[in-house]
Amino acid sequence: PGRWSLHGKTALVTGGTRGIGRAVVEELAALGAAVHTCSRKEAELGERLKEWEAKGFRVTTSVCDLSVRDQRERLVGEVAERFGGKLDILVNNVGTNIRKPTTEYSAEEYSFVMATNLESAYHLCQLTHPLLKASGSGSIVFISSVCGVVAVCSGTIYAMTKGAINQLTKNLACEWAKDGIRTNSVAPWYITTSLTEGLLANKEFEASVVSRTPLRRVGEPGEISSLVAFLCMPGSTYITGQTISVDGGMSVNGFY
Ligand code: NDP
Repeated sequence: PGRWSLHGKTALVTGGTRGIGRAVVEELAALGAAVHTCSRKEAELGERLKEWEAKGFRVTTSVCDLSVRDQRERLVGEVAERFGGKLDILVNNVGTNIRKPTTEYSAEEYSFVMATNLESAYHLCQLTHPLLKASGSGSIVFISSVCGVVAVCSGTIYAMTKGAINQLTKNLACEWAKDGIRTNSVAPWYITTSLTEGLLANKEFEASVVSRTPLRRVGEPGEISSLVAFLCMPGSTYITGQTISVDGGMSVNGFY
């Protein structure tokens, strides 16, 4: 396999039916990886699977609610079986947001966002550690957010989970380097997906986002999946513990 290929690699990408996760599944599969993905909706997984098979991609799927502990355990059991006890790539993509003022969050909303964004990613790292170690050159990529790098007015619980993921990235990079596992985090700004389409449909809001973004537009899922693929390739084997923002320059914009 070449330096710019994922041929022969195996990957678990969470939340692959829409948005960034879907782009990551397609990018990794197009580069030659065998990919397993999941979401909560069986029908949508089935539709995607038909499209992927038509393109010749090697993708398999599980229905799984990643906010639930025993469903995560079952998922990783299925992955271990499919890939023969080894895994090269884990992309922790699943995440959601509830946008409201901090004083208005309920205890249930706090637990839901924490479980979906942070606990699921943390626990999947624990569960897949033996598989990634067995690969001899494992790569974990978290889909974080610039909300975990700078303060953005889009929900404090979400921002806390993303900030924690960026720290987890650093700790695991150091703790698991000896196991041949690299860990990096990709931090997008606004990307057009089902998560943001409602917000971005508000043209006034979109204009305010764009006005803070030096490249003067929002991003596309394929502009995230390209970096994720690079972070899993032999060409990036000296990069670990990093959070890389993919944000059109937003997080470095002092006042332009
Ligand atoms: P979408 O909501 O468009 O897609 C999310 C995907 O994850 C879907 O496939 C969804 O399927 C799946 N999913 C959601 N919850 C669960 C769950 N509990 N268990 C299993 N699967 C689940 O989101 P995006 O693509 O926009 O976001 C992906 C990641 O990127 C998130 O971590 C998000 O925080 C991050 N991000 C996104 C940005 C953006 O502007 N879009 C900006 C910065 C970061 P289903 O609902 O059927 O389960």
